[in-house]
Amino acid sequence: MDSQHQHFETRSVHSGVAKDSSYNSVITPIYPSSTFYWDDLQTTKGYDYTRSGNPTRTGLEQNIAALEGGIDCRATCTGMSAITAVLHMFQPGDHIIASDDIYGGTYRLFADVFTRQGLEFSFVKMTDAANVQAALQPNTKCVWIETPSNPLMNIVDIAAVVEIAQSAGAITVADNTFLSPYLQRPFEFGVDIVLHSTTKYINGHSDVVGGAIVTRQKEHAENVAYLVNALGLGCSPFDAWLVLRGVKTLAPRMKAHQRGAQALAEMLDAHPAVEKVYYPGLPTHPQHELAKRQQKGFGAMMSFDVAGGRPAAEHVFKTATLYSLAESLGGVESLFEYPESMSHASMTLAARREAGITEKTIRVSVGIENPDDLVADMKQALDSI
Ligand SMILES: *Cc1c(COP(=O)(O)O)cnc(C)c1O
Repeated sequence: MDSQHQHFETRSVHSGVAKDSSYNSVITPIYPSSTFYWDDLQTTKGYDYTRSGNPTRTGLEQNIAALEGGIDCRATCTGMSAITAVLHMFQPGDHIIASDDIYGGTYRLFADVFTRQGLEFSFVKMTDAANVQAALQPNTKCVWIETPSNPLMNIVDIAAVVEIAQSAGAITVADNTFLSPYLQRPFEFGVDIVLHSTTKYINGHSDVVGGAIVTRQKEHAENVAYLVNALGLGCSPFDAWLVLRGVKTLAPRMKAHQRGAQALAEMLDAHPAVEKVYYPGLPTHPQHELAKRQQKGFGAMMSFDVAGGRPAAEHVFKTATLYSLAESLGGVESLFEYPESMSHASMTLAARREAGITEKTIRVSVGIENPDDLVADMKQALDSI
């Protein structure tokens, strides 16, 4: 059966899997070989050196490409290395428009490292697509989309931004980490390149860091493959094997994540110790309708403002036992995170306040525990402030 006609769950279990005919293993083996011997000067079995390609990595790449609906994927050793590879598609003097609330590591790479290499960046409030139009320059080559944003869950209208970029001859790249291909497929809105930190939902078990770049045009696929090999960014066979194991359960995990998230958001929204909840699944979210139209679900990331500021937040971190205070997201276990002094500490205080991040803001990555337990645990922590 042609995998394009299979359902998502089926593709995630079967794509890139069962490749070994020597012993008929049901899963893709790990091939921890740096090099592959030639049968003669003309003939290999498709691999010669693991930096350039590895059968285990190929399995993962076929799987993620099938889930996003692309023609090719390259699996990299981190999300940041996927972004690094894509940035190398551009030349000094090229201009890239990005949102002003993109992932902090991406912001640092753009504003610091690649600015020194001669790329130019404009950071705009992308919740209003008109700001992208206004930032266009004759040398604009790319519009960088990340939606929903971290930590306040602002949503970018992907189709509107793609239209503006296309009219200016710029390509669009979407960082799809926060929703995973199960909940959002940017190619359906005309995006050119999709990338992931597979560290998050795609692997889903908080036990590996990785990235992926998915393309839908031959020219981009060839360029990205060339760059990942030339820069040496491909992931190890061991990591590829772990992520391939994780991705097979992406669909049932995302369903379970969302059940807990919706229940938690509704409890938080009604709780007197909570001033504001940032979750696109609540009808009060200013972009609830856009999220409904563009996403296949609301995801499991949210933030909320706790009344009482830092002392109240610290009380919640100590008192809720099912949530660990940790960076990262997208794993089966629920995590708390305090943007003010953790993920967004590298922003200036003024920039945090401008973005809406305060000492009240708590971010939650909702895991797949039973929603009743997640709600009860958070509620007792808030009740006892
Ligand atoms: C985590 C993350 C990254 C960076 O990925 P690493 O695997 O940590 O290198 C990039 N974008 C988003 C949206 C992320 O959440």
